[in-house]
Amino acid sequence: MDLNQLWQSTLAELELQISRPNFLTWLKNSRLIKKEEDGKVLVGLGNNFAKEWVENKYHKIVLESLRSFDETIKKVEYIVLVEEKKIFFTEKEPALSGKGNLKTDPNRQAILPELKIDSETNLHPRYTFDSFVVGSSNELVYAAAMAIIKDVGKKYNPLFIYGGTGLGKTHLIQAIGNEIKNFYKNKIKVKYVHSEKFVNDVVTAIRNKRMEDVKNKYRNVDVLIVDDVQFIGGKKATEEEFFHTFNVLHENNKQIIISSDRPPAAIPTLEERLRSRFEGGMIADITYPDYEMRVAIIKTKLQEKNAELSDEICGLIANKIQRNIREIEGILNKILFYQEFKNIEPTPKIIEEIINNTAQQSSKNITNNQIIKAVADFYEIAVNELISRSRKKGVVEPRQITAFLLRDILDMSYPDIGEKLGKRDHTTAIYSFEKISKEININKKLNQKIILIKENIYKN
Ligand code: ADP
Ligand code: MG
Repeated sequence: MDLNQLWQSTLAELELQISRPNFLTWLKNSRLIKKEEDGKVLVGLGNNFAKEWVENKYHKIVLESLRSFDETIKKVEYIVLVEEKKIFFTEKEPALSGKGNLKTDPNRQAILPELKIDSETNLHPRYTFDSFVVGSSNELVYAAAMAIIKDVGKKYNPLFIYGGTGLGKTHLIQAIGNEIKNFYKNKIKVKYVHSEKFVNDVVTAIRNKRMEDVKNKYRNVDVLIVDDVQFIGGKKATEEEFFHTFNVLHENNKQIIISSDRPPAAIPTLEERLRSRFEGGMIADITYPDYEMRVAIIKTKLQEKNAELSDEICGLIANKIQRNIREIEGILNKILFYQEFKNIEPTPKIIEEIINNTAQQSSKNITNNQIIKAVADFYEIAVNELISRSRKKGVVEPRQITAFLLRDILDMSYPDIGEKLGKRDHTTAIYSFEKISKEININKKLNQKIILIKENIYKN
């Protein structure tokens, strides 16, 4: 058997043991490159991501399959098949920058440090003013934020920020928290909380008759930041507790910062006394970014990702996506993925296709079971295990990704997601969603996995 035949037979064997989408993704462009006298063979794979995946997940069955055809094989090693390709994301290294046709370094990894949520403040270090673009849509809020940072608790209290989804509310209020924390070197105690978490804390405290836990947690801070406060509306016990927390902090000149998807007057179930408290400070909205601002955001995001796109392409994206910055990020991640993983050059036509496809995809009929199955298939774990309460190492990430996708694609509520994934508390679902939606922007591999899983979801 020559090398090619040997590999074709091995692939046929592997195809029986690996799910179809995975087989196509990881092994389609593989080759057996050589066999050495000591029994070592070299397998070439399409890219670095595939190499790592096959090494970690399929090594054993690759070796076994090979050996079933040729017993003299003792060892398998993997390399990446480097191809000449057109690059539009240029490296920021001097030797490589700005040229047309370059070889990519297959070993290049995301060099960003892993960023973790601070357990004391609940703030994510990624959200800073350095990465926040100020423009016509958020100038006013930004000015208020700066005034607050200078004079914590004294200027605008509370600061109530509202605006549509994906327009930067969470980024902004967390950036305020991070700035205060860093500027005052922890002398000022900051705490960020998503209102669903606050609701949950109150509910748990009532159930366990431990209200003082909530009081200790939220009344002993200098700056309390509450995200998406609209979820508090209509939950009586929580509103009550929040009202008192608010008063205690306010009377002591502690700063309160609140975000919401609408102004206080438009949260129908909000108690009157809480509404008038909110209206007692400064209310400012974030509106849709204009074209210039969208272009600036695209360029900032590319810089963060160490990537470049032509002005024409940036303009095209800014033209097409007008109402949601999170969506802009999603498209950039996708383009980056297509370039790196699939070798696709982003002509304006392709960019347009990617954008149109993404818009169509979100409206397709997808069920939660399809999503769960796609994740299970991708990681080759059983659906039952994925939705179980097991904390085994191999299922934590898949489960967090499932939670993320259920929210991202279906807009499922956090309690429903928690229920579906092993009858978990909904705060676990919030945590998972928030974690993955941040990580996806800084962790290239995670981004790749999620795009591949999504492709499989929409393919079926
Ligand atoms: P919201 O909380 O309003 O739904 P987020 O704060 O989560 O929106 O923002 C969505 C994404 O867009 C985040 O990844 C954030 O970093 C990014 N983003 C929003 N506004 C800006 C901005 N002005 N500059 C840079 N990035 C932004
Ligand atoms: Mg938000």
